[in-house]
Amino acid sequence: MSYNLLKRIMLLLITLIMVVNTSAATMNVIIITDPTGQDPNGAAAGSMSFAENMFQSTFIMSKENNFAVLSGGEGNQTPRLGAIVRTLELLENGATAADAASAANSFSGIRIMTGGPTIGAAVGGSFDVYVVTVDNNGTITVTPASGGLAVLPPGEKGAIIHLRNTHGNPQYGTAERVRQETAVMIGKMIRDGYPATDIIGEVFKEVSTDAGEKYGGGAVNLASSITTGDMFTPSDLNETGFPMNEPYSKVCPTCGWSSGYSGAEDFKTCPLDGTDLKTIYAYDALVNTITSTGEGISVSIYGTDAPGISETTREIVQYSVKQNGFNAAKIAQDINSNINNGLLVGVNYVEAKDINIRENSRAVGVYYKALPDKRTSPPWDLPLSSSVLNIVGNMQTALGLILVVLVLFRSTLLTSFMKKRR
Ligand SMILES: [Zn+2]
Repeated sequence: MSYNLLKRIMLLLITLIMVVNTSAATMNVIIITDPTGQDPNGAAAGSMSFAENMFQSTFIMSKENNFAVLSGGEGNQTPRLGAIVRTLELLENGATAADAASAANSFSGIRIMTGGPTIGAAVGGSFDVYVVTVDNNGTITVTPASGGLAVLPPGEKGAIIHLRNTHGNPQYGTAERVRQETAVMIGKMIRDGYPATDIIGEVFKEVSTDAGEKYGGGAVNLASSITTGDMFTPSDLNETGFPMNEPYSKVCPTCGWSSGYSGAEDFKTCPLDGTDLKTIYAYDALVNTITSTGEGISVSIYGTDAPGISETTREIVQYSVKQNGFNAAKIAQDINSNINNGLLVGVNYVEAKDINIRENSRAVGVYYKALPDKRTSPPWDLPLSSSVLNIVGNMQTALGLILVVLVLFRSTLLTSFMKKRR
């Protein structure tokens, strides 16, 4: 990684922290069920918290090198960013997870958890974790560790889970028990042969329900480089993300029609064929998204903050791609027909050029222009200055990193971001 690039990343991240309140992921987890890296669902990582601003707290994934960096801790933001950048630099240069995570110990109060299918997993700095290992005879070992460095060595099946309660969480005081119970559950599921992507869904379910550290956040599939992106992260600054133990969408088991909440509340049966709809909770939506079946698609929505639009658009796009593949004209057509039938309210029609498809990363961006603008064909203008785009573009192309801070593209976030800069 070049010095220039690091400087640019720092610039972007520092600009961010100037306008964003402190947030600290209180649940970080990395699970490795196939340390050979061959199972496309054999390694996963994720974060969530009771706290706000979970888009910045922080999962960074390298598509090229199959690692994730999760962070948190009570320390000041600036040293945390320093620790993240140092960790990235080490990993890009081929360091083990243990070497990279120990970078956190040079920065006060910071936690860095990192890992990948073949490099093992490790956590450094300020943490309360269980390290889970499962040997080839099915023997589960669950070991607590607090602070310094804890490691799941390369080549071993297992996991590391960090959990603390956020101040103000009504379920404050549950972290210690839930951390242990969840670690044991992870061990049993690894022993029983579940893939990491399934197990992480159960972790999100248990921790959100039993410990109240419930707001996304999100997860990444480290073996196949699939991310939940901004599905669950907050769409505005200084807000909480989606509660991971609540309904996220409803789907028709017969034809695949689906609708996101809150719009889905109005539907009990499928409007196409009358079948009873199935409710999908956020933790299941997370698993569906990051599980590699060759069908997972990450969808990002820009240019509207009308309620329910993101969730419903995501469902429409996923359905459209399943039916017709990555076809911008078909996706636009499917979105527009749902505007016509009243499922999407408060957005204007889209055209094929408003659909940004990156087929090799199975990602689709939908650019809405809000209705008051009185335009039928919104122009392709990103809600960002070209300099910021440059930085982000460089990070993606040069490093193959996906930053969840990309949620910044959402116009609502950008609006408050720009306001506060003035
Ligand atoms: Zn149906």
